[in-house]
Amino acid sequence: MWMTKANAKRITLRFHTDGQLLAISHPSVSQSVVEEVIRKQANWIQKTRSHLLSERDRTYYRLQSGEQIQVCGKNYKFIVQPSHQDDPLRLKVDKDEHLTFFIPEHTQPEELAESARQLLIQWLRKKGSSWSTMRAEIWESRMNVKSTQIRVKEQKTRWGSCSSQGNINLNWRIFLAPLDVIDYVLVHELAHLLEMNHSDAFWRIVKSHLPHYQECIQWLNHHGRSLDVQLIVKS
Ligand SMILES: [Zn+2]
Repeated sequence: MWMTKANAKRITLRFHTDGQLLAISHPSVSQSVVEEVIRKQANWIQKTRSHLLSERDRTYYRLQSGEQIQVCGKNYKFIVQPSHQDDPLRLKVDKDEHLTFFIPEHTQPEELAESARQLLIQWLRKKGSSWSTMRAEIWESRMNVKSTQIRVKEQKTRWGSCSSQGNINLNWRIFLAPLDVIDYVLVHELAHLLEMNHSDAFWRIVKSHLPHYQECIQWLNHHGRSLDVQLIVKS
């Protein structure tokens, strides 16, 4: 994609969250000059794009110290700490964004991967819940609506839902998405408090609060399936 900006001093290359390249230049710069810059930067473009995509489209995480996971737009680091075989498997989260797994010795890898995943999901639901409560306060006053309750649940096929009683359910997986995408799902459900359908009027409400909402829908269409946590345990 090519965009011109009257105040652009030089040609800038940037990436969209979906991996699309955006070139910005002054209107006087011809397309062939921009193309030449892109050709010269081909290596860098290729490398940056694949890095971007691999970092974002993650479903699998290694259960080992140093592994990182992005939740509600923040990077969290795994720490693996062995514990006595009689202690239960546990997960501790501290202020420094460390997720410490205390793993009893002699736990079978398959059992460990599943139990640790459940602990992680449990935490994701808690984290997502407090994040949504905090964000809902802001959006509800902007949109002049009030939800009854927001819950973060296990949902297989939907990112969110809203009942006529004003109860909003959100899928825990959405909290692995970029922040503006999480916001979009929240705003979408809150907009249903005003319009219980997907009419033009509904989308007008969403757009008035999130002008770029279509990019969020596109992001979900492209990457939604990668929003999951599967843990890999070295045996
Ligand atoms: Zn809807």
